[in-house]
Amino acid sequence: MKILVQKFGGTSVATLERMKQVRAKVQAGLDRGFKMVVVLSARAGETNRLLALAQEWSASPDLAECDSLVSTGEQASIALFSMLLNDSGIKARSMLGFQVPITTDDDFGNARIRSIDSEILLQALEQYDVLVVAGFQGCTEDKRITTLGRGGSDTSAVALAAALGSVECEIYTDVDGVYTTDPNLCSTARKMDRVAYDEMLEMASMGAKVLHIRSVEFAKKYKVPVHVRSTFTDNPGTLVTQEDSTMEAVLVSGIAYDKDQARVSLRGVPDQPGIAAAIFGPLSEQGVLVDMIVQNTAFDEPTTDMTFTVSRKELPKTLAICEEIKQKIGAKELLHDATVAKVSAIGVGMRNHSGVAARAFSALQAEGINILMIGTSEIKITILIQEKYVELAVRILHDTFGLDWDLGV
Ligand code: ADP
Ligand code: ASP
Ligand code: MG
Repeated sequence: MKILVQKFGGTSVATLERMKQVRAKVQAGLDRGFKMVVVLSARAGETNRLLALAQEWSASPDLAECDSLVSTGEQASIALFSMLLNDSGIKARSMLGFQVPITTDDDFGNARIRSIDSEILLQALEQYDVLVVAGFQGCTEDKRITTLGRGGSDTSAVALAAALGSVECEIYTDVDGVYTTDPNLCSTARKMDRVAYDEMLEMASMGAKVLHIRSVEFAKKYKVPVHVRSTFTDNPGTLVTQEDSTMEAVLVSGIAYDKDQARVSLRGVPDQPGIAAAIFGPLSEQGVLVDMIVQNTAFDEPTTDMTFTVSRKELPKTLAICEEIKQKIGAKELLHDATVAKVSAIGVGMRNHSGVAARAFSALQAEGINILMIGTSEIKITILIQEKYVELAVRILHDTFGLDWDLGV
């Protein structure tokens, strides 16, 4: 049995008219002789609406109930789309996460897929030509509903593609591929034909929400080619795939940004062994994900400063924990700033080239942008700056590394 997995995001299923365009993409797959597994998101805005309801009803909503609530967005999409397919004579049925089943851990709101049982799906595909599966959701061993984190339908789709041996996983969205940077922020962004798994992992983790990061982890692990394309055109999209030598020839292949950053600084921290553990241990125990970390070198002084970033929604919790740490270790001051953002330049070509960071820094300096923190990895440079400079910094770096469209001027 030849199976193709397609996934459609929230804007693609927002209205009846758009669902009809989705139906055309599914029909094209059927015409190519595939049995289809179609993963849908909630209709645009629905997940946010449900999350706001939870906040209205409860001061601190129970996480498991919250998942039970927000997962209904996808339930509505798959039922509506299955009706549409049935009305046009296509044999289809909807399937929720627990019906597949897609089994996850019990980290409600951010669950990880543990296993997918393909048996029931394969049996159902004997009877139906299209299975319409709810994205973003799974269930624990004891059948409580979970969700996979915002944007998680991409991960449902790639995991299903891996489990079913789909030739590739098509991710349909509102842009026609992965661009050198967010095309909605930078008009000179260029669509990439191909991007390496590692580059896409860095781009996703640095804020490019076009693909959920865990979907790229799955794709890399199980070698699933992911084809990102538009629901509304027939243009070829971007293939996320294994690295090859042509990709290495390009120094920087993309610029990503993330405005969901807050900076926290513990000043006057004793410079002695165990201090980093005393700060980051309690934060991690209480589930706070720390992103960039910088510790000043003290040299001949008895104290130093420790600065790090967290997601803005984690800031109140982080400050409460850090206030206790400050007392305990005898730090002088606790400071914070929630008006910062990070911008990253990414490219597998950086492995073999030096001087990329210096070029980025001098381009930003020429525009008077002050760099607050710097982080690097083998294929990435990240800077933290004031949020108001994000668009400018993205454009400057995009231009500096030759990613702009050749406008012919
Ligand atoms: P969907 O609802 O289909 O899952 P998302 O809104 O999650 O769609 O992701 C698509 C959006 O990702 C685009 O509209 C675009 O603004 C944003 N985006 C950010 N970085 C990039 C990039 N490098 N390439 C393409 N899109 C990007
Ligand atoms: N509906 C979920 C969200 O808005 C999952 C998804 O769209 O991928 O985050
Ligand atoms: Mg998405």
